[in-house]
Parts: sequence; structure tokens; C-alpha cells
Amino acid sequence: MTVKFVPCPFNGCTSQRVKSSGRWGWFVSCACGAVGPSADSREGAIEAWNRRFEPRQMSLEVGV
Ligand SMILES: [Zn+2]
Repeated sequence: MTVKFVPCPFNGCTSQRVKSSGRWGWFVSCACGAVGPSADSREGAIEAWNRRFEPRQMSLEVGV
């Protein structure tokens, strides 16, 4: 499965990983320590990360 991440806004790195953390669900974690919004699925976490840092879509979507 190929996953495409938006490069990290802090250092431009592309070594993000998706992690799960119990009740908080899934989130994207960057090598530099940045984390994306949590979601209830792996795909959702990736999508949330990408959406959050996509300049064209500034809306922060909250919710699971
Ligand atoms: Zn980073």
C-alpha cells in the first residue's frame, strides 16, 4: 500500500509514520516530533495530516 504524505510543514521531511494510540485512535507522527490530528482509522489519520497541512484547504476538521 502506497501512502502519500504531505511533507512536514516544520522541516519538510517525509518520514512520517502512522501510529495508533489506544483510545485516541490513529495519528501521523513525524520524525521531528510533529503529530497530526487523530482519527479513527489509519487512512483517516493520513487524510487528516494531509488536509491539515494542505495550503489550499485551510479548514481544520475536528471530529472522529
Ligand atoms: Zn517533521
